[in-house]
Amino acid sequence: MRRTLKSFYRLNLGITKCYLLKCPEGYLLIDTAYPNAYDRFRKAIDALGVDMKQIRYLLLTHHHDDHAGFAARLVEETGCATIFHRTALAPLNRGASKETMQPVNRCIRTVFSVFRMIHREFNYPSLTGVEDSVLISGDDADTLRQIGIEGEILHTPGHSADSISVLLSDGNAFVGDAAMNFLNFCRIKYRPIFIEDIDSVFTSWKKLMEHGAKWIYPAHGRPFAVNKLAQYTAGGNLNNS
Ligand SMILES: [Zn+2]
Ligand SMILES: [Zn+2]
Repeated sequence: MRRTLKSFYRLNLGITKCYLLKCPEGYLLIDTAYPNAYDRFRKAIDALGVDMKQIRYLLLTHHHDDHAGFAARLVEETGCATIFHRTALAPLNRGASKETMQPVNRCIRTVFSVFRMIHREFNYPSLTGVEDSVLISGDDADTLRQIGIEGEILHTPGHSADSISVLLSDGNAFVGDAAMNFLNFCRIKYRPIFIEDIDSVFTSWKKLMEHGAKWIYPAHGRPFAVNKLAQYTAGGNLNNS
C-alpha cells in the first residue's frame, strides 16, 4: 500500500529523514536531524506552508545525534511537547549519543571505520527543561490517541534500547533506526548498520508486523513494504556475515 494522502510529510534533511504528521492541534514531528540541518528543516517547513508554532509535539525515536540534533532548538523555538522513551532522558539531557553499538557485520565495520575517523563527535545541544515530557516505557496505546492521531507507539529496541516506533492504524510505521534501507552493499537487508542486539532487531520487526505494520518509513533510506522484513524474521536466515 503506497501512501498517497497528505496526512504526513517526509522531510529529507540529508542522511536523516524526518516525518511531519498532521494532528488536530497542528503537527507531530518525528525526529530532528543533525544540529546543522536546522536551516534546511526551516526551509522544508516553509515550503510546506507550515508555521513553526503549529509543531505542537516532537517524538524522538531515540537519542542519537542524527535524530535529536536540533531537538533543543526546536523546543526552544516552538515550545512543543516532547515524547521519547524513558531511557532516552539521561542521554538527551547530556546531549550525547551512547556509544554502545556495534557494526552489524564485518563489512560495515570496515566501511564505517573511515566515517568514525571523520565523525568523531556524537554530541549535540542537550535537551533540558523538558520535565513534562511524555516518557514512554514499553508499548503505548494511549499517547498518540490523546493528541488525536490514530495509532500506537511501540518499543522497538535492537538498534538502541530506547528505540520507539510510531505505527498508525492504517499500517504506516515510522521506525527511526529500527530498520534501514539506504545501503545496497554489505548485505544489510534492512538491518540497522549499528546495533546493540540483533535478536532484538528481529523481535522488533516481528512486533511491528504483528501490530499491523504494512509500510515501513525508516529514518535512513527509502520507504518499503513490510513483507521485505518478513522473510528475515521467519527463519532468522541472516547471520552476521
Ligand atoms: Zn540511531
Ligand atoms: Zn540514525
